[in-house]
Amino acid sequence: MNWESVSRSVPLKTLTTLKAGGEAELFAKATSTPELVEIAAACQLEGVKVTPLGWGSNFLPSDSGVKGLVLVNQTRAIQIDGDVVIADSGVAFQDLWLKSTQAGLVGLEFAVGIPGTVGGALVSNAGAYRSNISEFLIELEIVQDGKADWVDPSWMEFRYRDSVLRCESPRSAVIARTRFRLPKGDAKKSYDEAREYQRQRIGKQPPSASAGSFFKNVIDAKLASEIEGLSDGMRKNNVVPAGFLIEQCGMKGFRLGGAMIGKKHANFLLNVAGATAAELRSLAEYAKCEVKAKFEVDLEEEVMYIGDWTNFQPISP
Ligand SMILES: Cc1cc2nc3c(=O)[nH]c(=O)nc-3n(C[C@H](O)[C@H](O)[C@H](O)COP(=O)(O)OP(=O)(O)OC[C@H]3O[C@@H](n4cnc5c(N)ncnc54)[C@H](O)[C@@H]3O)c2cc1C
Repeated sequence: MNWESVSRSVPLKTLTTLKAGGEAELFAKATSTPELVEIAAACQLEGVKVTPLGWGSNFLPSDSGVKGLVLVNQTRAIQIDGDVVIADSGVAFQDLWLKSTQAGLVGLEFAVGIPGTVGGALVSNAGAYRSNISEFLIELEIVQDGKADWVDPSWMEFRYRDSVLRCESPRSAVIARTRFRLPKGDAKKSYDEAREYQRQRIGKQPPSASAGSFFKNVIDAKLASEIEGLSDGMRKNNVVPAGFLIEQCGMKGFRLGGAMIGKKHANFLLNVAGATAAELRSLAEYAKCEVKAKFEVDLEEEVMYIGDWTNFQPISP
């Protein structure tokens, strides 16, 4: 690997949808899978921490920055062989749906409106409308300990919006390529369904800088059966939306510095006026405290705090 092509002290703010955070100590871009594998493997062998970055739509870097190398994934190759789709991890999740549908393969309609790469989607087992990306995955290529290997999806230990790559000390691994198997179906129906999902999103989602839902929804049969005001559908599925709990705490529109709880959707934390990462995280901590105090529920972040947060002290509202 050519270390001379690596940049230093690169601001990450503009590369995240929350538009906040500090700098990457080291920074490189990969535009092909061989390049991605080479850089990731070289870092792993040299003991340099590598943090892959897709579209930064679930990524809040600390204001103190990110140590090691941030590797922007701009790999784009996608290939279809019968009912199997082989995609680079840098392919946009929405393109995975589009290209598959064009080939008469369906099932990924829910991906429309989820901004980000296939790699980022796998890390958080992204999904919507009762479907998740992991349902269709049959194999993935992981760069680990300096080499790339194809592994079974069970390697990822997928759960609701979770995988082994989100745990507290995640394996230093980069997803390089992926293989999905999709059912054959009606492309027209797939477009119509995707359009309807998109329409629903436009109605619900605020246009300001955000990372989509900041917290995971709460799966709790007891809470869902007891809490007042929940829709029948949610109650039946034992789901209590995080936004519903935050809203019940009267926090819609609540502001801390440049960070604000969405007025339209309380699970969206918005950067409305140049918020720092610390302001965004402090507001998230405050919402968690309020929800805990009122409902005895621990909200869990869907957004990932990246980099050095050791000196983070929540700012009081
Ligand atoms: C408006 C909006 C709506 C959203 N709606 C949804 C939704 O409906 N459902 C949903 O699940 N999410 C949603 N999200 C969240 C987000 O879009 C998804 O989590 C998305 O899949 C993240 O992809 P990304 O490429 O941006 O990942 P990033 O944010 O760039 O990275 C996220 C994490 O994955 C790691 N990572 C990225 N690529 C790789 C790789 N190749 N190998 C290993 N690790 C990697 C990063 O290091 C980081 O830890 C929404 C976000 C926004 C802004």
